Amino acid sequence: MQELRELYQTVILDHNKAPRNFGPLEDANREADGHNPLCGDRLTVYLLVEDDDRIADVRFEGAGCAISTASASLMTEHVKGRQLAEVAVDFDRFHELVTGPVNEAANTEELGKLAVFAGVREFPMRVKCATLSWHTLQAAIGQTPETAKTE
Ligand code: ZN
Repeated sequence: MQELRELYQTVILDHNKAPRNFGPLEDANREADGHNPLCGDRLTVYLLVEDDDRIADVRFEGAGCAISTASASLMTEHVKGRQLAEVAVDFDRFHELVTGPVNEAANTEELGKLAVFAGVREFPMRVKCATLSWHTLQAAIGQTPETAKTE
């Protein structure tokens, strides 16, 4: 557990200090704004979704706490190049990871680096910081209903 805590802090601090895929995306074909009033986090997610439902590119902009910024940064790394259907499954997995029971082992296998957010479940006030980027991503994906199907 101690090891996980240290990893959690190192990865989050790193992504907060140097967020990946940060800035506008010129050829985006979808975008959405997200706001977490509990903490004051704000961000915009830009997507370039190709005809085959693959996320060809993703970037984000905004300002927020370390958890929200690091989560958005890691999310963009995770979803880039993936199919929308895969991303929908990972959204559910991530949500479960950060809201699951504290004393239950999190299922982190499929989530790669995103597993560092398992520590957030100990801080209920922080859950919305960690999930803001994912909700915003979902809103951006949902802009074109016919391509947002998950079958
Ligand atoms: Zn926050």
